[in-house]
Amino acid sequence: MKIYKLVPKTVKQHEVVDEVICDKCYTPFESVSWGVHEFEFKYRNGTSYPEGGSGEEYNIDICHKCIDGLLTVLVDNGYMVRGKEWEH
Ligand SMILES: [Zn+2]
Repeated sequence: MKIYKLVPKTVKQHEVVDEVICDKCYTPFESVSWGVHEFEFKYRNGTSYPEGGSGEEYNIDICHKCIDGLLTVLVDNGYMVRGKEWEH
């Protein structure tokens, strides 16, 4: 006979983003009610095959206070930064 008891189920740990720090001014991103600040820069290079791959990945997190400076630097150095209005 087997006598069963209840044991807490173990939860597998995984990483989630807890805080985002600006890579320019090193301050935490502020959450602003109803505000939108999304910035994405990610560059990956390397090799990729059906069974796997490897390489390097570069990314940067920039807060809403520093984004104008970055855009100015990019434009001043010949990069075309495209802007458009959005809504959903
Ligand atoms: Zn910043």
